[in-house]
Amino acid sequence: VVLSVPEGAQARPGVRFDPEAATEAWLATVPPEARARSDAYFEGGYWLQPLDTLVGAGVMLLLLATGLSRRMRERAERVSRHGAVQTFLYWVQYLAVTTALSFPLAVYTDFVREHRFGLSTQTFAAWAGEQAKGLAVSALLGGLFVTALYGVVRRSPRAWPVWGAATALVFMAVSVALGPVFIAPLFNTYSRLEEPSLREPILRMARANGVVAEDVFVSDASRQSTRISANVSGMLGTERITLNDNLLRRTSPEEVQAVMGHELGHYVLNHVYEMLLFLAVVLVAGFALLRTGFERAQARWGARWGVRGVGDPAGLPLVVLLLSLYGAALAPLFRSFVRTNEMEADVFGLNAARQPDAFAQVSLRLGEYRKLAPGPLEEWFYFDHPSGRTRILTAMRWKAAQLEAQRAAPAVPPVPPAPAPQGTAAEPAP
Ligand SMILES: [Zn+2]
Repeated sequence: VVLSVPEGAQARPGVRFDPEAATEAWLATVPPEARARSDAYFEGGYWLQPLDTLVGAGVMLLLLATGLSRRMRERAERVSRHGAVQTFLYWVQYLAVTTALSFPLAVYTDFVREHRFGLSTQTFAAWAGEQAKGLAVSALLGGLFVTALYGVVRRSPRAWPVWGAATALVFMAVSVALGPVFIAPLFNTYSRLEEPSLREPILRMARANGVVAEDVFVSDASRQSTRISANVSGMLGTERITLNDNLLRRTSPEEVQAVMGHELGHYVLNHVYEMLLFLAVVLVAGFALLRTGFERAQARWGARWGVRGVGDPAGLPLVVLLLSLYGAALAPLFRSFVRTNEMEADVFGLNAARQPDAFAQVSLRLGEYRKLAPGPLEEWFYFDHPSGRTRILTAMRWKAAQLEAQRAAPAVPPVPPAPAPQGTAAEPAP
């Protein structure tokens, strides 16, 4: 794949480079049908997210009001006299029932809709098989977590919100650290990027930014999806940058470099740790609110539901209900936190890779599953990454500043030259 820059976004000697006009020129390269399709896909999410919260809340109330949750706890108590085993057995039943009840919505959102928009490459059998695998992981890891959580809550009847939040945070940190080693390989095959012409510039860019890495990983994401993507995962020694095979196959080497600059930014700027710190605050506040909400609901309906108290796993649906409402209320704030980090990584990546045109091009490709040019409020509320338009504008402003700097002092390293109109690829920056 060869990078080609639209005329309106090319630098011309003697003409001031206008970032806004260049951004419009990039956006104009996307056919209107494609724009309409990705807008419809993304805007559908505006309805699906609240619907998902509502369906989840309905399922939780059903478990409580029908006494199903109480009966699951009683069944667990008949099997074992040990509190931890009872909690684990309750969890397995809870997971089975909630998965079954929310299955139709999951089929629609994750399978039918993905196919309708041409984003999925999976057969139903392959998709369902993966769901089953995910369910097994949830049964085991979720079971360990819920058992530990209830153990902590029962041992600390007064200070449980603090210890509960701490337990949740520890489990999150452990799953981030172990994810790339134990969980991700269950779903995809990870291999090392061998192609030296791609790998060497990436490793050089990493070294130049203080990161000593020997490998870049490639995932076979095309077995699930057509999406182009890359990510940083892991912490405390398991960190790795992974790009997916769709990115490799569908983009130019300059675009790969631009994306890797962005991912490197997440790593160098310690975004994983910032996120955990943010979650720590969110969890402590959430558990404090949970205590108030749980105690009130318990006083009113506890006897009818057969929930003995906060240490009783039969109250798990109430815990999940309250925390999911809290999470839904905080979602825009959470997305803004993530989007701010993404913006930082964008700027870092532009400085590291020095490929503003490639970054603009790949931002358009990411627009296949995100609305390209939302309104400002819409972007603030719904986007967990900058929109395509914002990202391209950031890149074009970077390019404008570089062009100005070059004019002022020609010794400044040049931005990559615009490629010839057709046929030949742009040379990567020296
Ligand atoms: Zn990112």
